[in-house]
Amino acid sequence: MRVSVDLDVCQGHGVCHMSAPEVFELDADDGHAIVQLDPVPASMEADARTAVSACPERAITLSD
Ligand code: SF4
Repeated sequence: MRVSVDLDVCQGHGVCHMSAPEVFELDADDGHAIVQLDPVPASMEADARTAVSACPERAITLSD
């Protein structure tokens, strides 16, 4: 599974990091999401899906 964040949409809420901390880090300056693991390991796919659902801006995209 591949993951990406649309930084034009991301508002730095940080919910993705709380949902999947191994997959998403947050930029120290503006709080925007930084993908750490792409492709996402199988063991973390469920957390990544949770992050997609939780993102208030719908900024995260998953693809196979
Ligand atoms: S939850 Fe969404 S808007 Fe917030 S930092 Fe993560 S990707 Fe960006």
